[in-house]
Amino acid sequence: MEKISVIVSCYNEEKALPLFYEEMERVRKQDFENIDFEYIFVDDGSKDKTMDIIRDLRNKDEKVRYVSFSRNFGKESAMYAGLEASTGDYVTLMDADLQDPPSLLRQMFDSIKNDGYDCSATRRVTRKGEPVIRSFCARQFYKIINKMSDIEMVDGARDYRLMKRKMVDAILQLKEYNRYSKGLWSFVGFKTKWIEYENIERVAGETKWSFWKLFKYALEGITAFSTTPLILSSIIGILFCIIAFLIIVAIIIKTIVLGDPTSGWPSLVCIIFLVSGIQLFSLGIIGQYLSKTYLEVKNRPIYIVKETEKDV
Ligand code: UDP
Ligand code: MG
Repeated sequence: MEKISVIVSCYNEEKALPLFYEEMERVRKQDFENIDFEYIFVDDGSKDKTMDIIRDLRNKDEKVRYVSFSRNFGKESAMYAGLEASTGDYVTLMDADLQDPPSLLRQMFDSIKNDGYDCSATRRVTRKGEPVIRSFCARQFYKIINKMSDIEMVDGARDYRLMKRKMVDAILQLKEYNRYSKGLWSFVGFKTKWIEYENIERVAGETKWSFWKLFKYALEGITAFSTTPLILSSIIGILFCIIAFLIIVAIIIKTIVLGDPTSGWPSLVCIIFLVSGIQLFSLGIIGQYLSKTYLEVKNRPIYIVKETEKDV
């Protein structure tokens, strides 16, 4: 019998988890009669009762497996851990808050089974319930990163997707520390079917993404999948050299023709500020890449496990 692994990353999801399990089981019984399932809950260092709920689920349902982290490593690490633990022929990644509706799973499964796709991914076409400024920034971000990077990032793409084993293994080969999954999916390729749906608000609990966290995540995406900022700072540097050269020539000519009245020091100060600003900015860009390289060469583990279902 074929098996689907359902990976759910959970960080402080005590309110949403029971609802998720209930809904997922309903869908499984209704739509997937002859298919084996395993649920892998990845507890990303939750501080509430998430782990107790997962253990309870395990006690009453053999299909439930779990990986619990020693601290909060972030959703990217949680997804990686889930993929590593999974044993199914097909693997799906879901949020615990039911924003990734399990009811879409049958449609996703059919497009892989019947239409020859390797992967079926979801994309929300609206951002209902999100702060306006956040939606705006997100849209601008996708515009910018798609100009900068060779890898295509799909606006509104969720991490919710169903993949064949082959694609999962390809993802697992990418062992980088700075993980930006939206890019990694595109990087590995494979034929992907996009399923669109309207945004759904989370059933319970609160979002873990503050604006600042999202901003840092966006920068991560840019440094992970594009070196355009480095090229940009080189271009600006060359441009300023050319301008400076032209001004020098102009001043020399002016001094020879008109003599040299000592004037213009305020404009000089402005120029010094501008140029040193640009220098610092470029240094910052280089620093971003350097810091990512630094973390990468340290080769630290992507996550650390405290407990799994095999420990009890
Ligand atoms: N999550 C996680 N680790 C984190 C933050 C979030 O595993 O550090 C999980 C969270 O429990 C949820 C999913 O990632 O299942 C998506 O998080 P959330 O709903 O807060 O994000 P949003 O849907 O608002 O983008
Ligand atoms: Mg959510």
